[in-house]
Amino acid sequence: EDIRVYEFAEACGKSPAEVITVLFSLGMMVTKNDFLKQDELEILGEEFGIEVTVKDALEDVNYVEDYLGEDIDEGSYVTRPPVVTIMGHVDHGKTSLLDKIRSSKIAAAEAGGITQHITSYTVTKNGQKITFVDTPGHAAFSAMRARGANVTDIIIIVVAADDGVKTQTEEVISHAKASGCPIIVAMNKMDKETANPDMVKAQMAEHDLTPVDWGGDTEFIGVSAKTGAGIDELLENILIQAELLELKADPTAKAKATVIESSLEKGRGPVANIIVQNGTLRIGDNIVCDTTFGRVKAITDDSGRAVKELGLSETGTVLGLNEVPTTGSFMVAMDSDKEVRDIATTRAEHARAKELSKSTKVSLEEMSGLIAEGKIKQLPVIIKADVGGSLEAIKGSLEKIANDEVKVKVIHAAVGGITESDLILAGASDGCIILGFNVRPTGSVKAKAKADGITINTYSIIYDLIDDIKDALSGMMSAVI
Ligand code: GDP
Repeated sequence: EDIRVYEFAEACGKSPAEVITVLFSLGMMVTKNDFLKQDELEILGEEFGIEVTVKDALEDVNYVEDYLGEDIDEGSYVTRPPVVTIMGHVDHGKTSLLDKIRSSKIAAAEAGGITQHITSYTVTKNGQKITFVDTPGHAAFSAMRARGANVTDIIIIVVAADDGVKTQTEEVISHAKASGCPIIVAMNKMDKETANPDMVKAQMAEHDLTPVDWGGDTEFIGVSAKTGAGIDELLENILIQAELLELKADPTAKAKATVIESSLEKGRGPVANIIVQNGTLRIGDNIVCDTTFGRVKAITDDSGRAVKELGLSETGTVLGLNEVPTTGSFMVAMDSDKEVRDIATTRAEHARAKELSKSTKVSLEEMSGLIAEGKIKQLPVIIKADVGGSLEAIKGSLEKIANDEVKVKVIHAAVGGITESDLILAGASDGCIILGFNVRPTGSVKAKAKADGITINTYSIIYDLIDDIKDALSGMMSAVI
């Protein structure tokens, strides 16, 4: 994976042009800096009669995801607290339930330490801990899972007993089932006169979540986030499920955690809200988190108080990373600061290179090279100019410079700035370039063009524009192929 055209060419003793030509003849536009996709690699392998094996370019640094440190000791595995996520349709009481569980299970004195609304926390029930993790929604939950971040052990689907299964409940059911986690249904708002638990059970049974008392294997617990009724029963049920899961981890290992939220805070720098999945995270630990790294400067627990460490399944915030990590990324504590720096740097360079390769998808120079080789018969362009007079002049000139073999094809010409709809248009036509005269793309359009690999050239002198296109058409531009 992640090999560029020229790297591939080098590896198999071909010239980049040969590689590009093969792909081009099959309608695939690449330049020498582009990364080759799996199917392109297969085609090239066949064409050149060589065997192509695909290997992860980041293999050498991604081993940290399995890194347990030298002090791993199977004998020190202990039962770790379950991590629970609550999901449900909007207004069915997810937030109220999280708040109620927290306030009813944390001593008043402790609760005094809460400085902000933190919805991920650990409570104690019958001497056993349970951690609740708030995710911004089931879509975010699945997006995190897609990236390999599995923080949840048990899912609670909250359904308002007076409202029943709604569209988002159905979505949540799918997401929850896909995760493979045990599911508990919390029928909320049971204090309401209109609460109808049988309706909820029947509707959920239709989605293959059949209540235990109906002969199925899903626990349904009636609760009220308003009065607190049923919450003890819910927590007891969580503990029963957790016991069946036999969750184990090693508190003596180097920490492995997942970032569940992150931000840049004034005076504090990058802040990562994490959940510890293995080991113990301590102040002073060298940590790497995707492309960021650092040394743990400060830790606060789920009540916002400064602590020295976070243990198994505990959540809190960590200061000390050099940049804000992405949600769902994996944090690993390692032995040395060199190790974490090297890993983060390698990953960052790789990410940057990938980003760069996108922006060079089809430049005018490269189009020119393809034209010189007779691979392209027309150069599609979109022209945007500040005034109608210039626009007509440019359009007229460009249409005239066509020679017998190659010509400019004006796909769209209009007065005005370069917009997102121009990008969409350009993207729909292979190799299309956007020419701006006295107009510039806005920052967001520029960024999108870069992401989509669309070239935008801007000019303030008509002759420069015409000359560039003339050169491109005659294949005389300093082609980089
Ligand atoms: P979320 O969107 O799922 O997070 O739902 P909220 O927790 O914000 O609750 C939505 C509304 O339902 C709020 O007005 C809550 O006060 C109310 N609510 C939540 N739980 C209960 C409950 O158990 N009983 C009653 N009567 N109202 C509740």
